[in-house]
Amino acid sequence: MSKDFLFSIDLEDPRENIWNKDRYEDRVNLNVMKLLDWLENNNSKTTFFVVGKIAERYPDLVKQIFIKGHEIACHSYSHIPINHLGKKEFENDLVRNIEAIINCGVPSPIGFRAPTFSLIESSFWAYNILRNNGIKYSSSVLPAKNPLFGIPNFGQQPKYIDGILEIPVTISNFLFYKLPIAGGIYLRILPKHIILAKARNFLSTNYPLVSYIHPYDIDVNQNYFMHEHINNHILNYLMYFNRKNTLLRLDSFIDLDYNIITYERFFRDHLSKNIS
Ligand SMILES: [Zn+2]
Repeated sequence: MSKDFLFSIDLEDPRENIWNKDRYEDRVNLNVMKLLDWLENNNSKTTFFVVGKIAERYPDLVKQIFIKGHEIACHSYSHIPINHLGKKEFENDLVRNIEAIINCGVPSPIGFRAPTFSLIESSFWAYNILRNNGIKYSSSVLPAKNPLFGIPNFGQQPKYIDGILEIPVTISNFLFYKLPIAGGIYLRILPKHIILAKARNFLSTNYPLVSYIHPYDIDVNQNYFMHEHINNHILNYLMYFNRKNTLLRLDSFIDLDYNIITYERFFRDHLSKNIS
């Protein structure tokens, strides 16, 4: 039996990270269209975690993604990490995110992903706010020690916290680190044979493979600019590194017998298994 692959696309625009964003070409539509084609060619439906500001700017695009059978979920309104927000600010931001999505003409979302996997133990109060606003699941935890965020002892098993099913991102050992090797920048910069060996080993576990990319992760023609929040030339260069191979690497996952499904479907399957 094939393995559930909770692939996802965090719908963002990298130009949001610079002050002079209008100097650079808008490539969001173009990149999303390529991703939609790739998903269709693989007969796959996935989850798009959509930033509220982006939903406001591209309502037709968000509606089109939904019409093609993919799930639209929340990725905050302003993409501010949770630890920078108080409870009321977090709730206001979430409500704006939900409204922006509904205004695109799609149903009220039931899923949430915190910006930069910023949900940590000291922000577990967020689950209560998510639940009160109709959210059923979250995929916001990096279950590892990390310089920014992360919960080292969370584990890989999805579990309920305050009535919300938390589906942590999949991490794997690489040298001295535990990294989300199938996601975003790591999927591009780590050696392919290592990523595939890890993915092959992961097939025998009981957990779904949880990962993410952004539309820009496949964009080989984006103008090079310095991301203000990165402010480090090597890290900034890695933001652009090996984008041409992102979809080819994902093809290899599918060849290994990973089957992309939406988080919503995983959530409903999980719910029915635990009731019966
Ligand atoms: Zn994000």
